[in-house]
Amino acid sequence: MAGTDGIDPAAVAIRVADIRARIRASASGREVRLVAVTKGFGPDAVAAVAAAGVGDIGENYAQELLAKLDGLTLPAGVARPRIHFIGRLQSNKVRSLAGAVDCWQSIDRPSLLAPLARALPGAPVLIQVNVSDEPDKGGCAPDAVDALVDAARAAGLEVVGLMAVGRTGPPEQARPGLRLLRTLVDRLGLPECSMGMSGDLEVAIEEGSTMVRVGSALFGDRPRPGEVIAVA
Ligand SMILES: *Cc1c(COP(=O)(O)O)cnc(C)c1O
Repeated sequence: MAGTDGIDPAAVAIRVADIRARIRASASGREVRLVAVTKGFGPDAVAAVAAAGVGDIGENYAQELLAKLDGLTLPAGVARPRIHFIGRLQSNKVRSLAGAVDCWQSIDRPSLLAPLARALPGAPVLIQVNVSDEPDKGGCAPDAVDALVDAARAAGLEVVGLMAVGRTGPPEQARPGLRLLRTLVDRLGLPECSMGMSGDLEVAIEEGSTMVRVGSALFGDRPRPGEVIAVA
């Protein structure tokens, strides 16, 4: 049965299985983690993927995330998923998010480091890199990554990997940027390479992703910003 924002748990479970099959088909035996991106959808979307066995959720907006967690009721026996913050992060939101976010994937500038380290010493972070040179994409420039990794460590944060959003367009056009991200991850010796979304997850996994972030392929098109789901 569909929930309040049109989420049908049975349909979501089928889509989760489809995405897992797509991941397996590209991963040639490697483990690749699925992060279900629930931005634009309400608590029902989180409950549906959690019930389908997905243990990781991605969220982009501070207020939306906090409201969603307030309204979240998980089916009996289903553990609360890990929350990855993957959206543009404002330093004045770090404190309010500290109790909710388990992994900070969008660290892209030095000014975020002190507020985060103060709120959550040792927090696990990924540095977001703009590998496509598109101005609308977040992330630090590739040649700024080393300094940001060093600064994050100096602040006492745990740098677990790098994250990027692939170039918009046909998936093959994303490949060079995704390959660059993997090269940077390897050079830095980091465990996690977070790349790959609904449209380009195969290419991303071929290029060495350890974690894909999938939204629309699980939940359908997002409501337009501004008509984002009432979560209260
Ligand atoms: C929205 C978003 C995703 C998911 O995108 P889909 O194309 O819906 O799978 C992944 N990563 C980031 C950073 C996003 O903002």
